Amino acid sequence: MQKVIILFGKPGAGKGTRLGEFLKGRENLFEVLSVGNLLRKALKEQTELGKRAEFYMNSGGLVPDEIINELVIDAIRNSDKPIITDGYPRTVGQAKAMLNAGILPYNVIELFVDDEIVLQRARDRIVCGTCGEPYTTNDFKPPKTQGICDKCGGTLVRRKDDEESVVLKRLEVYQEQTYPVVEFLYDNGVEIHTIDSSTPASREKFATLLSN
Ligand code: AMP
Repeated sequence: MQKVIILFGKPGAGKGTRLGEFLKGRENLFEVLSVGNLLRKALKEQTELGKRAEFYMNSGGLVPDEIINELVIDAIRNSDKPIITDGYPRTVGQAKAMLNAGILPYNVIELFVDDEIVLQRARDRIVCGTCGEPYTTNDFKPPKTQGICDKCGGTLVRRKDDEESVVLKRLEVYQEQTYPVVEFLYDNGVEIHTIDSSTPASREKFATLLSN
């Protein structure tokens, strides 16, 4: 079984951005499973999965466990590299399904930020409409050319679920359904590392944990 690292944190905690920075030059060493990106791609292509997920995603809720488990557990099993999951498991039901499938994560890296910062980051975030690469409208990670993705040349757009009312709903869902996953995994012997995502030192700590 490949090593599985779970990347954990509120929406807007910086998971995708931190991961993107870390992976530069290491793209071939890890398999990254971003459930949000997989779902957004399915939605854009209007596949069966995308159509089933659309309502939940646009309202800030979670897509039902059975749809997600099917998508992710197979992908984890089929990978031949260490896997970083961004956005899975997000409910205790998903975490149970993962353990029942014989997948015991190596560790959990939790990026922590206050809700206020999450709301500000959602206002500042833009993503590539084609490949999903995240950027910011402030000077944290701006694209080289305004409105254009550095990676694939796609057009940068705001995510529908970054609207304030949807972000507030996503924070509520995180607190109620996702946060208990950390406790569940800890109780099952998985090591949990928490990093304060708002400090400059968090970049280095994050990279060290992923490289170990
Ligand atoms: P993200 O980009 O990780 O914030 O995901 C965007 C949206 O996709 C979420 O608000 C959920 O609607 C859905 N989603 C992503 N990961 C999961 C998951 N593990 N379980 C259920 N829904 C998910």
